[in-house]
Amino acid sequence: MAVFWRRSKEDKFSSSVLGLDKSLEELKAQEEAVEREIGVRFSRAVEKTRYSINTRLDGIFEGRKQIDDAFLEELEELLISTDIGVATTFRVLDAVRRGVSRQEITELGALKTAMKKELLSILRHSEERGVNDERSVDDEIKPYVLMVVGVNGVGKTTTIGKLAQRIKSEGNDVLICAADTFRAAASDQLEIWAERAGVQIVQQKQGTDPAAVLFDALAAAKARESDVLIVDTAGRLHNKSNLMAELEKMKRISGREVPGAPHETLLVIDAVTGQNGLEQARQFMKTAEVTGIVLTKLDGTAKGGIAVAIAQELNLPIRYVGIGEQVDDLMVFDPERYVNGLFN
Ligand code: GDP
Repeated sequence: MAVFWRRSKEDKFSSSVLGLDKSLEELKAQEEAVEREIGVRFSRAVEKTRYSINTRLDGIFEGRKQIDDAFLEELEELLISTDIGVATTFRVLDAVRRGVSRQEITELGALKTAMKKELLSILRHSEERGVNDERSVDDEIKPYVLMVVGVNGVGKTTTIGKLAQRIKSEGNDVLICAADTFRAAASDQLEIWAERAGVQIVQQKQGTDPAAVLFDALAAAKARESDVLIVDTAGRLHNKSNLMAELEKMKRISGREVPGAPHETLLVIDAVTGQNGLEQARQFMKTAEVTGIVLTKLDGTAKGGIAVAIAQELNLPIRYVGIGEQVDDLMVFDPERYVNGLFN
């Protein structure tokens, strides 16, 4: 089976959706309709952040004849309040200052354009690291081992369920490995998601060595010739050193059983926790060789600027964003759509 998922940005539809009877025009119209729908749903997800930024921007612009130091101070406060991060804030302010002194920024529209450009450049830069696109990974790799790490409560289980559904719907055989054997409910929750997505799950009783569950899952994935194995991991940060040793061991076993595995390690961060999420990320990055980020609950915060702070401070690509609790509320992160969503 061709791994369609790795080409999903290029070819919008799986063969089951495509239908060979459709004309090129019909396909194009269908593709545009899907794009529009994605655009609308994403725009809705960042509505709170957009509202907060734009009403405040309007407020600080109102009645001003020029962009002066007092204005820049207010802009600084605004940016910090979106959780965009201190380093990013200063970078954006520098760009604005330059634009003002060259008289390129004299009104709100030009200010927004300059800010968007700066944010986009940070996001694009971080895309050069880690795995930023499934298509950059060799098609022959089978199973593609996708490890998912993150602190309890961030939305790891939900994300795995959404990912399983998405990857399967694009024509792949997907297997889930329930290696968070620490939390009693983790495996049960994951089982519900696996059932919903119609994919198999490898699980064992609570307290089993996670590495043993992973070993079984890797063997099963090879035997079934699965395209993708998604591995859940524990997220109990209060027991940090054990957890990190456990992740290290799982990484080693993956690589021993499947050359190059894990091919991707996604760190799940909850957008609502903002800067705290960044601190957690740094802990995980010490051991887990994280290759990309899933930013969940973007729909639940007015501080959606955290995506840029992640890119700037962790220098990792944001691969997906969670925009709700339903199975299809997961999107491939598109920097341009995000930046436009913040301002328009
Ligand atoms: P885990 O402990 O990391 O496995 O977290 P769960 O997957 O159990 O999710 C914790 C809570 O966050 C649940 O109530 C989910 O429905 C909710 N959740 C997860 N992702 C999203 C998202 O993208 N948006 C919203 N609004 N809620 C989410």
